[in-house]
Amino acid sequence: MVNLDPKGQPNAGQPKAAPQGLHEARKAVFPRQIDGKFRRLKWAIMAFCLAVYYITPWLRWHRGPYSPDQAVLIDLAHRRFYMFSIEIWPQEFYFVAGLLIMAGIGLFLITSAVGRAWCGYACPQTVWTDLFQHVDRWIDGDRNAQFRLAKQPWNVEKITKRLSKWTVYLLISFSTGGAWILYFADAPTLFGDFFAGKAASIAYSTVFVLTCTTLWLGAFMREQVCIYMCPWPRVQSAMLDEKSLIVTYKDWRGEPRGKKAAPGAAPLGDCVDCGLCTAVCPTGIDIREGPQLGCITCALCIDACDQVMVKTGRPRGLIDYATLEDAEREKAGQPATAHAKLIWHPRTLVYLGVWSAIGLGLLFMLGTRQHISVAVSKDRNPPYMLLSAGEVRNAYAVRWKNMEGRPRKMELSLDGVPGAKMWAEDMPMASASGKIIRIVPADSTDPVRVYVLAPPTTTGEHKVTFTLRALDADGGSVSYAARFDAPEAQP
Ligand code: SF4
Ligand code: SF4
Repeated sequence: MVNLDPKGQPNAGQPKAAPQGLHEARKAVFPRQIDGKFRRLKWAIMAFCLAVYYITPWLRWHRGPYSPDQAVLIDLAHRRFYMFSIEIWPQEFYFVAGLLIMAGIGLFLITSAVGRAWCGYACPQTVWTDLFQHVDRWIDGDRNAQFRLAKQPWNVEKITKRLSKWTVYLLISFSTGGAWILYFADAPTLFGDFFAGKAASIAYSTVFVLTCTTLWLGAFMREQVCIYMCPWPRVQSAMLDEKSLIVTYKDWRGEPRGKKAAPGAAPLGDCVDCGLCTAVCPTGIDIREGPQLGCITCALCIDACDQVMVKTGRPRGLIDYATLEDAEREKAGQPATAHAKLIWHPRTLVYLGVWSAIGLGLLFMLGTRQHISVAVSKDRNPPYMLLSAGEVRNAYAVRWKNMEGRPRKMELSLDGVPGAKMWAEDMPMASASGKIIRIVPADSTDPVRVYVLAPPTTTGEHKVTFTLRALDADGGSVSYAARFDAPEAQP
């Protein structure tokens, strides 16, 4: 870069400005281990999330001899989604859409109640980054040992530790990618086929891609995903207001900070400037600089500072969950609002109401949905045929659906054309009657071509209704509106 004077001329007398990059280089973060109630909560949530992710595909759920026995299965080949006793068919995708909407509103609800708790505790990026950071501590040692190792030249110790660490990283990443594909096929079978080299190529490529992305996001990118890549912090920032709980450094109590006041100087605040809050922060920020996008509200700095406060005989809570409104109240010497009141404010209740209404609606639909279904498509060309005796025949493609894991006896009947009779293409025409009875195989769609025959006197267009009724103890019936065409009446 050319160094110019104020007139735009090359400035030979001054040192050249250092070249500037397009972005700030990443500063490695080596968060220090800390114990405390929020750390223990993070442990519990992390263990729960990882256990759910890795164990779920192995859970079995008996659905009878005709359906898979994997508790949670996305069966793309047969276009089904199984979740314990619930089986979702493609035409019921609104259940999945409803669940996604609930997940979105759930995020709003959590943010409204307890700020960025999702980011700090349950987001997959947070959970896996935390896991990788524990591997760092387990192999390299705590913060200071990691600093030392990062700076020291490559020797036997560093090479050994790096190799060990990267092996564990790879194992975690591979397990993460490997567990994902088990949601899409019978887990024990796919597991065996995968290691025997007999699985489909898409399984290997999916595991490869997910292993690489887990490694990249968990080992390299870490806090940069939260600070620069993820849009959610920006959305959440827009949702937070002066009543939202955020991790707050109480500067009115902590400042002026310092280890020891100079003789004769004004007394110092409660912050002893030990830097422990920054040392434990997984995103490497200093919360004393105020609320920041990089703060995922994991509250580990609260654990850290509370330890310091206890050791130095000061009241805990120099860093604490607080709202901006309460910060002002506390600054003015007034008591803070009770946390329960902060959590259950009107906006939270509105989100909770909407979230619950959608959930109850889905549950109601799930509880009352029919496990049979029928779809009818009429032949358009020709719209009808006249048989030799003058009867009018229309043809339909009828799809009988049995959504139960057992074969079911069903009856198809028709209303709307007086005297009409029906038969299926695999039945003799002589057997035509007012209904067709078939056994529909378990968990399947049975496409049947159906002919409807009306008396010769039938004329014009008729609205007809096909009704499919299950003839077993569970019963149930569904209808489908269609059309019957006949020649126009002669004047
Ligand atoms: S841990 Fe507490 S006392 Fe130590 S620097 Fe942070 S705010 Fe100050
Ligand atoms: S500042 Fe505190 S709450 Fe925010 S990310 Fe760092 S440790 Fe977690």
